[in-house]
Amino acid sequence: MNYVLALDIAGTPFRWMEPREAIHYHAAGKVAWELGAELAVFRGGVSRAGIRSQLTTRSVIALAKSEAMVKWAREILPLKHDNRMLFKRDRHLCAYCGDQFDRRDLTRDHIMPLSRRGADTWENVVTACKHCNHTRKRNRTPEEAGLPLHYVPYAPCRSEYFILSGRRILADQMEYLLARVPRDSRLHAKAN
Ligand SMILES: [Zn+2]
Repeated sequence: MNYVLALDIAGTPFRWMEPREAIHYHAAGKVAWELGAELAVFRGGVSRAGIRSQLTTRSVIALAKSEAMVKWAREILPLKHDNRMLFKRDRHLCAYCGDQFDRRDLTRDHIMPLSRRGADTWENVVTACKHCNHTRKRNRTPEEAGLPLHYVPYAPCRSEYFILSGRRILADQMEYLLARVPRDSRLHAKAN
């Protein structure tokens, strides 16, 4: 299924939502504006005049009266337990050997190990292959292990976070999000 990218009234990504839910917002008159290709059409009942109602949604919608979300949108974006977004951020490259791996051969490495009070945050984790994590680096810092990082970890900005969390992102949604990702992000290198 393709998801609708919902924005707050300021155009900040709010969340991915199912087309059915987006239609609900349309029906309630809560969509301020929309852009992108038509994503879904839902047919409603037939009116007395014999006209069947129809609601459509485009792939990007901005929700009206969402000023409260604008504040929420500044909050920190969580590093989920599932490593999918982390591996995507790091382009499936091991930070220690620099090689690319399948998801099943990768792990989440804490640069400062958890056992030594390292934090489980975007800035303290990198993607590492099983061999590098369990055999080469182990419970040490990269410095102690003599393993310099191939890249620097970072917390994604909001638009980047939505790119990382989307499963099947449509071209117009990607265009909208990429335009809001800082130029020095690694995602731009990937898009080119
Ligand atoms: Zn490796």
